[in-house]
Amino acid sequence: MTVPVDRPGDQASGRPAERPSDRSAPAESMAWRRKDLLGIAELSVEEIELILSTAESFAEVARRPVKKVPTLRGKTVVNLFFEPSTRTRVSFEIAAQRLSADVVNFSTAGSSQSKGDTLRDTTHNIASMFPDFVVVRHAHHGVPAMLARELACGVVNAGDGSHEHPTQALLDALTIRRRKGRIAGLTVALVGDIAHSRVARSNIHLLTRLGAHVRVAGPRTMLPAAIASMGVEVCYTIEEAVAGADAIVMLRLQLERQRSVLFPSLGEYAALFGLNPARLALANPEAIVLHPGPMNRGVEITSEVADGPHSAILEQVGQGVAVRMAVLYLLAGAQRPTA
Ligand code: ASP
Repeated sequence: MTVPVDRPGDQASGRPAERPSDRSAPAESMAWRRKDLLGIAELSVEEIELILSTAESFAEVARRPVKKVPTLRGKTVVNLFFEPSTRTRVSFEIAAQRLSADVVNFSTAGSSQSKGDTLRDTTHNIASMFPDFVVVRHAHHGVPAMLARELACGVVNAGDGSHEHPTQALLDALTIRRRKGRIAGLTVALVGDIAHSRVARSNIHLLTRLGAHVRVAGPRTMLPAAIASMGVEVCYTIEEAVAGADAIVMLRLQLERQRSVLFPSLGEYAALFGLNPARLALANPEAIVLHPGPMNRGVEITSEVADGPHSAILEQVGQGVAVRMAVLYLLAGAQRPTA
């Protein structure tokens, strides 16, 4: 598969230089039609495969001496983060820059939101500056969808409340696929605060759609009653969830979203649901361990596991840039006039 290259004609038109052209991949034959990426729930298998195969082609750009392609030259990406973020914001920024876009970072600390601007005012102000993409993270479910309705530009959900975090699930899937060669037929355990985790929700949609067997585990207070209806196996101990698993995704306790005390203490949580070497030994000997970050070492995961030979956690961060390049690239294609 080839990656978009810097060609003079493409620079003049400002269009994506060259689409990845591996015609043998079935997903490549489909055209991307969405203006926005709001969640995994709404995506077809073909759309997920198209994002993953496009990301594969962009992963190579990170290894070039000049890490830039001209695809989004002259376009503006606004990173609109109403909740803290390190990896996601930085990797969207790097992704946009590698595509030659201009990037503006807006976070609520230091903005007029803290002086009283409403979300609607902020949105209209940003719209008046004519960005081409808004990447948004917000504590409330549905804010990216609201922006997508109000704004003519492309909107990417970078995490909305406990709802979805689609690019995280895509980068998790890409990491698993690159390490294991496939997703269909694998057993993947998601362990932790399932109820409040947007990462868990997006991963469940994506992994079940691509044919993985998904297990979820956590304290009963953090397992939503209806979770089994999403097509997952519900486990009440971490041992049950990780037994024979091919991939284990550990999740942070979303204390900022829990409205009451859902477990007695961090020490007790770590003792019952933390991933340590003894528990990891129950998994497939070739199992990989993922974590979306930020990690609470000594709570949901020990340092021996996080930094050990099964860990794919830093690889996830690298795949995040490629996935976000792919998403911006595909959304830009959907925005092009179809003359
Ligand atoms: N970074 C991920 C998110 O924004 C996971 C986490 O914060 O625990 O959802």
